[in-house]
Amino acid sequence: MRWKGGRSGGGTEDRRGLGAGAVAGGGGIVGIIAVLAYVFLGVDPNTTQSVAGLFIGQGAQERGTMGTPADDAGRFVDVVGANVNDVWAQAMRGYTPPKVVLYDTGTGTGCGYGQAAMGPFYCPTDQTVYLDLSFWQTMSEQLGASDADFAKAYVIAHEFGHHVQTLSGASQKVQRAQQSLGKEEGNRYSVALELQADCYAGVWAANAAKVSGGNVAMEPGDLEAGLTTAKAIGDDTLQKRQGGRVTPENFTHGSSVERMRWLKSGYTSGDPTTCDGPFQDL
Ligand SMILES: [Zn+2]
Repeated sequence: MRWKGGRSGGGTEDRRGLGAGAVAGGGGIVGIIAVLAYVFLGVDPNTTQSVAGLFIGQGAQERGTMGTPADDAGRFVDVVGANVNDVWAQAMRGYTPPKVVLYDTGTGTGCGYGQAAMGPFYCPTDQTVYLDLSFWQTMSEQLGASDADFAKAYVIAHEFGHHVQTLSGASQKVQRAQQSLGKEEGNRYSVALELQADCYAGVWAANAAKVSGGNVAMEPGDLEAGLTTAKAIGDDTLQKRQGGRVTPENFTHGSSVERMRWLKSGYTSGDPTTCDGPFQDL
């Protein structure tokens, strides 16, 4: 993936190095084992019932450094985020960018105490994407995802997709619907949200080069890297990896096949209106 000549966003908040100790009033740390059961890519605290309990307390409002991080890994997030924003600014009327926070170990969020073991997530309350960059290593070394830059960008774009859902009201609609649904059916709504976010990530990928004059662009092999990653983080694959039975009723993100399907679908159409499909399938 080409990205180094891309526009910097400059609005990334870097809390790396502050450590979990910087968080006041976090209310304790949840065991990693419990967390792994939900794994990765968009734990969405307000829309995914099963993970709501992972966020404890109010979270402190500690402040990191604002701007464009100087290191490559941090700058990558800043540039990709700016590019995703540029795509959405064209695709959605009234779009406003989310905040982006880089952290390690744990940090206070508008949704409570967030920790690295949960993977990247979006908190709708403070409209912020939280990223612990050590997740990239977990993703490729432990989950069997690709280590290509595009695989990381897909994850970032997926989280921005949840921001779009908050702006569009889709997240709130699901949350309301889930209040009157049983767990199993509620999970199907969560899955639809996740698949729509995957589709939105595909829409971003399709338009990245166009909005950046080619400075942020996919290269040969990138789509495959994204699909490998989508496959690795499908619920059935994760459940098998954890040594458990595959139980579709507990899916909250969608199966590997579904995730690949919707990422590809968004990429092929380049049009966010085609991403309502997962809800039509309900
Ligand atoms: Zn997600």
